[in-house]
Amino acid sequence: MDARGFGSTGQRVSVIGQGTWRIDGSASADAVAALRAGVDAGLTHIDTAEMYGDAEAIVAEAIEGLREEVFLVSKVVPGNATRRGVARSCEQSLRRLRTDRLDCYLLHWPGSHPLEETIAGFEDLRRAGKILSWGVSNFDVDDLEAALRIAGPYRIACNQVLYHLRERSIEHAVIPWCAANGVALVGYSPFGSGDFPNPASPGGQVLARIAEAHATSPHAVALAFLTRLDGTFSIPKTGRALRALENASARDVALTEDEIATLDAQFPRGRRPSSLPML
Ligand code: NDP
Repeated sequence: MDARGFGSTGQRVSVIGQGTWRIDGSASADAVAALRAGVDAGLTHIDTAEMYGDAEAIVAEAIEGLREEVFLVSKVVPGNATRRGVARSCEQSLRRLRTDRLDCYLLHWPGSHPLEETIAGFEDLRRAGKILSWGVSNFDVDDLEAALRIAGPYRIACNQVLYHLRERSIEHAVIPWCAANGVALVGYSPFGSGDFPNPASPGGQVLARIAEAHATSPHAVALAFLTRLDGTFSIPKTGRALRALENASARDVALTEDEIATLDAQFPRGRRPSSLPML
């Protein structure tokens, strides 16, 4: 599947997107080429953050002339997330990204400034047209409930959380909560942030077998699995154009129920942890 509705925003967004954390500023030409190749292949959902060093500037270069095609997401760090701080951070991100608006603006993780302040800041920005929607990241169910109480229904566009084959904690409660409340679920670090199952391991062999049946790669199989549920999205990062195309090919991989069951058994979700894992 190429795109699906992004929470309650009414926008269709590419199910596989592109992350930009730890993008290599010293190889920015490669990073720009990779992001552009991804956008050309339909990976138009681009995730960045004020915290990601040079990433916003690299994204600006990559999306030059392509802004209308891209669903652009950035994030404010909790330390800046007062009502006025949100406005200031957003202005700076817009300047680095060389654009006049973000499609979605996220609180990077729950912090110590009152959530009421952050949400008031987001709503100011939305009314001013500087952001078209806002969401949260690394929010567990109790944080989501608190945000919902403050903002009211259909305001939280998405929750961006850790989700890969060996870290499926969000399946216990966060995914069901988001599905029930019209909140898009964006899984980050789908390849374990570079710690992907070794091809020689039992899990790696299962992935390879399924990949062979679909004439695709183990990474594409992982992305297909991680976006199998309605309302879910995934944002792999790569600094290489060929890998961006490989990641894009995951949208054509339709896993069978048997294959999903096999992956489920090989990479079990485990018990619900006491707190939400995050990077
Ligand atoms: P990923 O799980 O996306 O893994 C990235 C690693 O996988 C890189 O080493 C990359 O190498 C490699 N890779 C990518 N595609 C392929 C492929 N097809 N085949 C083989 N290797 C591949 O890690 P991230 O932690 O970067 O997560 C993705 C994005 O999620 C981040 O970039 C960021 O935007 C977001 N994120 C959000 C967080 C939050 O708190 N909200 C926290 C962490 C991430 P190479 O680049 O050399 O190809």
